[in-house]
Order: sequence, then C-alpha cells, then structure tokens
Amino acid sequence: MKHFAVIGHPIGHSLSPLMHNTGFTQLGIDAQYEAMDVTQENLASTLQQFRNENFIGFNVTVPHKQAVIQFLDQISDEAKVIGAVNTVHQKNGKLFGYNTDVIGILKSLEPFRNKIQNASCLVFGAGGASHSVMFVLTQNLKPKKIFLTSRTEKKSESLANAFRTLDVEIKILPTDSKKIIGAIEEITLIVNCTPLGMFPNINASPLPDNTRLNHHHIVFDLIYRPLQTLLLRQASAANATTIGGLEMLIQQGAAAFKIWTGQELPLSVIQSTLLKELST
Ligand code: NAP
Repeated sequence: MKHFAVIGHPIGHSLSPLMHNTGFTQLGIDAQYEAMDVTQENLASTLQQFRNENFIGFNVTVPHKQAVIQFLDQISDEAKVIGAVNTVHQKNGKLFGYNTDVIGILKSLEPFRNKIQNASCLVFGAGGASHSVMFVLTQNLKPKKIFLTSRTEKKSESLANAFRTLDVEIKILPTDSKKIIGAIEEITLIVNCTPLGMFPNINASPLPDNTRLNHHHIVFDLIYRPLQTLLLRQASAANATTIGGLEMLIQQGAAAFKIWTGQELPLSVIQSTLLKELST
C-alpha cells in the first residue's frame, strides 16, 4: 500500500483525506491518505519518517508551508517565488516541493480572465494564501492595479515589495472602512485571503458595513467552510459574481494527485462527495 498524508497544526477537519481517499478508491489505487497533526517541534522528525517509510507524497498546510522548504531537496520555481510549498512528492529518495495552491487559484479565476485583465483588484490579507493570490494576479492575470489591505501593514508592505512588477501597480490600503468603501467603485475583483467569515465565526466579513457592491463585481472568498460565507451572501444580494473556496481546494488537490500518481482526480465525484460533507 502507498502512503500519503497532510501535515499541519491544528489539522482540524481537513477535507484532504476524504478527497484523496475517494480518488484512490475510484481509480482502484491501493493507497491511504491520512491527516497528521504535526507541531513545529516535530516537523523535522516527521519529514525524516516520511523519507524512512517511503511516503509517495504529502500536503503541507498552516503553519508549515514556509518552514518545510528547508527539509526538501528541490522546489519548483513558483514555490520559490511565493516562498511556500503545499505539495511534496518523494521520488528516488528525494523530496520535491510544489505550490499547487496557485493552480487552484488560477482555475477558480480563469473564467474571468478578460474582466480581471487591466482592471483593479482588492485583496484582503497578507498571509500564505495571499502570497499565492498575488503570484497569480501579477504573473498571470495582470490586472492594472491591486489594492492590498491587511491588519498588519508591515506584512502588506513586504508582500507588495515581493510582487511589484512594472505592469501591475500595488497600493497598500489601510484597514480603514472609509478608504475601502472609497476604493470599491473602481474595483472589479475582490479576494478574501483572511479567515474572516470562516466557521465558527460565520458572521464576520472583511468588507465594511455599507460597502456598495453591484453586478460588475467579482467576489472570490477562499474560505470553503461554510460554502456560502457572509461575504459571498453580501455579494449575491448585490447581483455580483461569486466564487467560493471549494473549487480552489479541489483544483489544488487535483494538481497534487496528478503529480503523485500521474492520474486525473475524478472531479465530479470529488465535488459531490465534498459538497455532501460540507452540507452536513
Ligand atoms: P494565514 O497565513 O494565517 O494568513 C491569514 C491572513 O489573514 C493574515 O494576513 C492575517 O493577518 C489575516 N487575519 C487573520 N485573522 C484576522 C482577523 N480576525 N481580522 C483581520 N485579518 C485577519 O492564512 P492563509 O493560509 O493565508 O489562509 C487564509 C484563508 O484562506 C483561510 O480562511 C484559509 O482557510 C483559506 N484558504 C483556502 C484554501 C482553499 O483551498 N480554498 C487554501 C488556503 C487557504 P495577520 O498577519 O495580522 O495575522
């Protein structure tokens, strides 16, 4: 039997075991994927265990996406630029790191490429997921301008410095409601990369009260628990286009699955399985 895992702390109710084990069963692959709660102190020994026990692959989640890099033999160009790895593949005794979050983000936003190109975006948060979002926007979708806002302005500044390009302007916006409301009119895409609105704090939203959205806005919330966050409900009520975090989760998983097995994750079965799990 082949072994796979996701490591994080806390690992909580990760959907990755359900997603990948469903894929293995569907495709008749003799493999098992488990969630492992790994603290910072145990990270090095867990990686050594994966090498010793010849794990084929594992995912990495908060808080180890940056720290894991020092234990790997090689990482992809994207992972290098972003400074974070979420997928590791062990081949011939070597550990290769990838960032498949960028694929999940790109697949979620790809249908709106034409609207995003040369438009303005607003990104909430300056953590790990925000780095991947900034990578996709600046390297691929090419909006004209990105407003970046997070509660720790220093982090916004270093994120902006890392991704500033000649053709995409990045402007730091203070978390001041008036400034955000004032900018909304010129913005096309809004992306939530904070946990605001995530279960159990489902009555939170990164958007200030009284923000006026309309049908021109595209709102992408990376959160998938709940499927309909307050932010997405606010957007739907204003006839804006909404994108939830489930598509990103599935697409980053599908890209990892492909790296490990060379096979396609059966997307429609996975989607209905995860939707059922998230609806209970
Ligand atoms: P992270 O590295 O911890 O970053 C979180 C960001 O949100 C930081 O900028 C943090 O600010 C800010 N933040 C945290 N709590 C806040 C609060 N109460 N008010 C305002 N800002 C707050 O986390 P991450 O990995 O980037 O994840 C961010 C979100 O994306 C999470 O909800 C996660 O579930 C989601 N996500 C989804 C997927 C998917 O596949 N759909 C994948 C990855 C992440 P400070 O730096 O000041 O703490």
